Amino acid sequence: MRHIVILGNGISGITAARHIRKHSDDRITVISSETEHFFSRTALMYIYMGHMKYEHTKPYEDYFWEKNRIELRQAWVSHFDFDNKSITLDEGTNVPTELTYDILILGVGSESNAFGWPGQDLEGVQGFYSFQDLEAMEANTEGIDRAVIVGGGLIGIEMAEMLLTRDIRVTMLVREEAYWNGVLPKEEAEMIGRHIREHGVDLRLETELEAIHDDNNREAALRVTSVTTKNGEQIDCQFVGLAVGVHPNVKQFSDTALETDKGILVNEFLETNIPDVYAIGDCVQHRNPLEDRKSVEQIWYTGRIMGETVARSICQTRTPYQPGVFFNSAKFMDIEYQTYGQVPAEAPEGIKSFYWEHPGGKIALRLNYREDNNTLTGINNFGMRLRHEVCEKWIKGKKSIGYVLSHFRDAHFDPEFFQRHEKSIVAAFNKHSPKHNVKLGGKAPFWERVWG
Ligand SMILES: Cc1cc2nc3c(=O)[nH]c(=O)nc-3n(C[C@H](O)[C@H](O)[C@H](O)COP(=O)(O)OP(=O)(O)OC[C@H]3O[C@@H](n4cnc5c(N)ncnc54)[C@H](O)[C@@H]3O)c2cc1C
Repeated sequence: MRHIVILGNGISGITAARHIRKHSDDRITVISSETEHFFSRTALMYIYMGHMKYEHTKPYEDYFWEKNRIELRQAWVSHFDFDNKSITLDEGTNVPTELTYDILILGVGSESNAFGWPGQDLEGVQGFYSFQDLEAMEANTEGIDRAVIVGGGLIGIEMAEMLLTRDIRVTMLVREEAYWNGVLPKEEAEMIGRHIREHGVDLRLETELEAIHDDNNREAALRVTSVTTKNGEQIDCQFVGLAVGVHPNVKQFSDTALETDKGILVNEFLETNIPDVYAIGDCVQHRNPLEDRKSVEQIWYTGRIMGETVARSICQTRTPYQPGVFFNSAKFMDIEYQTYGQVPAEAPEGIKSFYWEHPGGKIALRLNYREDNNTLTGINNFGMRLRHEVCEKWIKGKKSIGYVLSHFRDAHFDPEFFQRHEKSIVAAFNKHSPKHNVKLGGKAPFWERVWG
């Protein structure tokens, strides 16, 4: 029986553990310093907002692990001896423990970025990634009324939403000229920017952090009292959320033989340069990224697929990582967002882009398609419920834009009596590109047939 040690109990490590157990009787140990049990990182914000308790973010009952013979160790791994296939665990006692493995899987995740700003280590200044960050945010925001969030991405908007539920005024500093416009095309970035402001956030675009200032308290730990921006403005606050992206958690391997760059370098089989050591999830950097994909992709579903892939390679046949059609989802306050395939901020040459937005400014759709043969290459969806499997099938099956729009009802699944938008979307598309002359097919929902 082999001993498979998995470092990291996030989505990638836990998926690997579950799938290895499905396929084998090997001894499995999962180690993480963060929490004893796997929880959904994407749900952390709901604990702060009071919608969920920590228990609700755990997808498996606590007895699941013992029942499936998956040993859990809550410990920090402080040393890696790859030559002797041994790691050192610091479990909070004075005596570190050595643990040997036959196969080691590294699913060590990410860490929040901080760019060396003066004052970034003050009390009340933090990122938001881990369970410990959630606890720190609870403590740091108790009784305060003013916060500054630095950065305009997915985590920044989550932190803003969290703070608003506690009546804390939020100023958001975004370096770019529109919210998350390195990822979102202009129209979507502007729509979300408007939405953020509608929620009462003081969104400052083209504004960069210069420094974070303290309260000059000699008796206690120094605490944040204000920030200054590069425009020379001072903003008073008692909390600063640093939401300027994350990086793979690889510093810990700097004095080892493990090859890293931005992340842990892996081949298409998720193998590192060290025999019997694999890497999966956020911490990975692909040596040869697949076409249209980035070398580092720090998202939930790719971690899950890497976990499944590595389990298959270890227990069955050596399997290359194939993530399929790119997918990501998030929520911008009240607006749900899904993206499929390729929708870059700027459509590249040879790609046409059709954008439709509902006059209410909270529902939108973008379809990207090839100019030469009209096949769909990407979808951005805001505020509508579209079936994941249908969108994926359209892109994978290289369906034409005309086909997609005429079959749009196959994807849409907003519940009965929700306003449907297929007709206006198709009408807008026919205006954008009359030569296609798309006719909406499928059966209109009952109430639309009755009331038009
Ligand atoms: C607030 C927030 C919201 C997000 N929302 C979305 C979303 O909507 N959609 C989406 O696709 N993605 C989202 N993400 C990203 C997604 O959560 C991550 O891509 C995913 O959780 C990464 O999983 P992982 O298994 O690679 O690593 P992680 O979940 O980071 O797990 C790694 C674990 O390894 C532990 N560890 C590392 N080194 C050691 C060591 N030496 N010893 C012991 N333990 C160690 C860490 O403490 C950690 O517990 C979000 C992330 C955050 C923070």
